[in-house]
Amino acid sequence: MDKICIEELKIFAHHGVFEHENINGQNFYVNAVLYVDTEKAGISDDLEESVDYSKVCDLIYKVMTENTYKLIETAAQKIAEAILLKFSLVKSVDIEVNKPEAPIDMEFRKLSVKVHRGWHDVLVAVGSNIGDSHTFIENGIKALEESVYNKDVRRSKLIVTKPYGYTDQPDFLNGAVRLKTMLSPHGLLDLLHDIEAKADRKRKIHWGPRTLDLDIIFYDHEIIDDEDLTIPHADMHNRSFVLIPAAELMPAYRHPLLGLTVKELLERLEK
Ligand code: ATP
Ligand code: CA
Ligand code: CA
Repeated sequence: MDKICIEELKIFAHHGVFEHENINGQNFYVNAVLYVDTEKAGISDDLEESVDYSKVCDLIYKVMTENTYKLIETAAQKIAEAILLKFSLVKSVDIEVNKPEAPIDMEFRKLSVKVHRGWHDVLVAVGSNIGDSHTFIENGIKALEESVYNKDVRRSKLIVTKPYGYTDQPDFLNGAVRLKTMLSPHGLLDLLHDIEAKADRKRKIHWGPRTLDLDIIFYDHEIIDDEDLTIPHADMHNRSFVLIPAAELMPAYRHPLLGLTVKELLERLEK
């Protein structure tokens, strides 16, 4: 991927954990690498096809000077968020915030925080089988859309399905949502848990009745298996109520472990 690089943008601002830093201020230097496909602009010589780096500098200046953060971690995070949200051609960013006058009683060469943030393509399965399932799902999807960390939210049709696993419970309403998120897999899981909690989700019986269930099915082509998270979702290929909505939104996506597309997984299950 091509890069647009901004080096050592000097900004006087007031970040720091000490009160004197917030009152007196100091110089910060910001480095930014924007990952952008510049081929079109390179061929057409048209700025509209690329990212206006002067506007990016203005935005970095605005984030740095209109806020007072304790941490340069936060400054870097907020700059990354602002750039990703404002410049849709930017796929990901590296942001480094340098604090050369950091209050340390020693000589140092450099002190900075570097972060990498970008958009990730995600599929989330939605399900509900208690109460007003349509409304729980509608509000859940709305919360995903309203999160500043997500964009381009697209939804499948909803389908009514028989309960899976623990079968002595009402029918389910199921669907899926495809979106772009700048959250990490675990950050997205936290967001899904918050949204479930707002729907008054209680965890009692595993696979038991629930007002709202949000599962991460795919996150780019990542493979994750730790205490809290298994991606791709461990059982998705055995569930038609996941594969039918998934096939509507991303039929050609190839499962990174099974090697089959979503469409092929659904055909295999239906046989
Ligand atoms: P299943 O995951 O088989 O559909 P469930 O959705 O009923 O079961 P929950 O009680 O909602 O299970 O979730 C239990 C835990 O599963 C969550 O707290 C989470 O840490 C973990 N988990 C692992 N992988 C995922 C994933 N891909 N998406 C969501 N949660 C996951
Ligand atoms: Ca589930
Ligand atoms: Ca779940």
